[in-house]
Amino acid sequence: MAVTTEKKQKGIVRLREAGKVAVRLRFTGGAATADQFAAIADIAKRYSGGRIHLTTRQGIEIAPVAAERATELIADLEARGIPVAALGAVVRGVTACPGMLCRNGVIDAQALAQRIDEAFRDFQGAHAKIKITVAGCPNGCPKPAEHDLGICGIASVTVHPEGCTGCGACVERCKVGAITVEGTTVRLDENRCILCGGCALVCPSGTLTLDEKGFRLFAGGKMGRFPRLGQTVIPRLGDVGEVIAAMGDLLETYRDRGRKGERLGETFARTGWPEAAAVTGKPGRRSRT
Ligand code: SF4
Ligand code: SF4
Ligand code: SF4
Repeated sequence: MAVTTEKKQKGIVRLREAGKVAVRLRFTGGAATADQFAAIADIAKRYSGGRIHLTTRQGIEIAPVAAERATELIADLEARGIPVAALGAVVRGVTACPGMLCRNGVIDAQALAQRIDEAFRDFQGAHAKIKITVAGCPNGCPKPAEHDLGICGIASVTVHPEGCTGCGACVERCKVGAITVEGTTVRLDENRCILCGGCALVCPSGTLTLDEKGFRLFAGGKMGRFPRLGQTVIPRLGDVGEVIAAMGDLLETYRDRGRKGERLGETFARTGWPEAAAVTGKPGRRSRT
């Protein structure tokens, strides 16, 4: 069975076996409720012999399903409030880590994923698939540099002059050797610091506190046959509104300059990065002037 563009956009994926398809669901940030899971289980029992596949990007596929039953299955899903994924040259489901549920999280990755999904779900004019992810901290578990657009949360740390007990928790926590403690004197090397905020999260004395939070924007990554790592294109954005605006600018420029089948990073590698996206390896420290 040929899978038309309309069907792809409805989340229908052709399978190896003739006459069988998968129906892919969309869970922004991988967030789903127990009721949705129960409904999916019920629907899978009726359409795929109870089989479900978890995709690499926090999606769920019900498969294998007889192709002629896919439309009925989708209607069942939608009636129970379960969204179906869009496929093809569109903004795919936005993935995200748990964000503030994680002990390392400095931004609400889940809420930001929802905002990004709302802003760009219906983006028109893409030349290829557009994958977006949000990480709650620079550890980047959902792999922002492997996506067309990726965000990671960042946080500056303020070192207060008093109160340090010399416990060493901050030194142990810092994975990049940016913090040293001699007696009760703390030094933070801003050239090494990657703005994860971790030292402040473990400091028991209040000597280290989380300062300004922000967002680092990566762009141009992709996996697949010819992987390419994305780059930090804007080292610090101050709030969610700036994130949405910066992503929107990049997407519109990609739409204007891109060629059919070209991923976002390939377009900018060919045509040059927009001026606002000053590609840099700097970690995004806020100006202290
Ligand atoms: S990216 Fe950071 S906040 Fe998100 S899961 Fe990984 S360690 Fe936790
Ligand atoms: S905020 Fe900077 S100094 Fe503190 S743990 Fe992270 S990298 Fe190390
Ligand atoms: S965690 Fe806080 S109290 Fe402990 S050594 Fe570091 S700055 Fe001092």
